[in-house]
Parts: sequence; C-alpha cells; structure tokens
Amino acid sequence: MVQEQRAKPKALIPVELIEKRTWEIACEIEAAYTNPLSALYIIGVLTGSFIFVSDLVRCLSIPLTITFIKASSYEGLESSGSVAISGIEGLDIEGRDVLLVEDIVDTGLTLTKVIERLAQYRPRTIKVCTLLDKPCKREYPVDVDYIGFEIPDKFVVGYGLDYKGIYRNLPYIGVMDGNV
Ligand code: IMP
Repeated sequence: MVQEQRAKPKALIPVELIEKRTWEIACEIEAAYTNPLSALYIIGVLTGSFIFVSDLVRCLSIPLTITFIKASSYEGLESSGSVAISGIEGLDIEGRDVLLVEDIVDTGLTLTKVIERLAQYRPRTIKVCTLLDKPCKREYPVDVDYIGFEIPDKFVVGYGLDYKGIYRNLPYIGVMDGNV
C-alpha cells in the first residue's frame, strides 16, 4: 500500500487554549440560559462542529437537548456559494431557546441559510455560538453571540474541521500552509 505523504498543519490554536476558551464560553451560556421551565435546545451544524459540540456540552450543567443538522457549502478551499441543509425537517423547536453551534463562520452564508430555515419552525430565540470566526471574510452579515476565537483569513483544519474530508481528527486547530 502506498502511504500518501501529507504536510502536518502548523498549530494556530493549541489544545489547551481550546479547552480554556470552551470553559469560558460554557460559563457565559450558563449565565444566559436560566429558565428552569425550558431546556436549552442545542443544534450542532455538522460535520465540522461535532468535536466542539461534544466538548462544549460536557462543560454545561444546565438542562439541554442536543441534536445535529447537516449543512455543506465548501468544496476544497472555497465556498461553493450554495448551502445544502438536511435534518431540520421535523425538529420540534417551537417556543424553544435554540443555540446553534458552528465550527467556523466565514462568509456567513451557511449560518444565514440555516437561521432562515430554523426560524420557520418558530423557536422562541435563536442564538449562535461558533468556535472560530473569520470576520474579514464576511459577506452575509450575521449576529454571532458566542465566539471562541477570531482568526485571520487562513484555511484552518483540525478539531472537527477538514480539508477534503481529511484532518478532522487533529486535536488542535492548524493552518494549511504547506502541501496537502
Ligand atoms: P460560510 O458559509 O462561508 O460562513 O462557511 C462556513 C462553513 O465553511 C463552515 O461550517 C466550514 O464547514 C467551512 N469552512 C469555512 N472556512 C473554513 C476553514 O478555514 N477550514 C475548514 N472549513 C471551513
């Protein structure tokens, strides 16, 4: 079997920093959602958010429901300009406080489309939490309530994020500078 050679992505955000920031965000979320009568409804946006969601929810001790939807817009290093969304049909979020959890907000297109679709199911509130934000790439203005890290215009991988399906299992956030 031929072993493909891949450059190891350079660390941009180390594991320890991700852990620390995740705890901080969880504290902010706990302070904001105090309604004992209605559990927070966390919706992770797959695929990239799967690790962040699983770490974030284990830092939270408030009652919550967790589910995932799928949204894809990227082809390799570029946004394709359209978003395919699945998993929203049948979600029972009417009157609920929804917290959307994203891996990264780039142009804002994915989030804009997902929020549009979710709003049709009449949740009480929709807030957004993202691990990473690239504000310099924004084309679609979108409110983000909780941001882990603002990053420059670089393509990042790891901690759930991929390049062509690879690198999601990298424990840190790395930058794709070399050959891939
Ligand atoms: P947006 O729709 O342009 O905001 O892009 C959001 C989606 O694009 C994210 O959920 C990721 O799946 C993907 N994406 C954007 N930037 C990156 C990156 O630097 N690395 C990996 N995926 C990215």
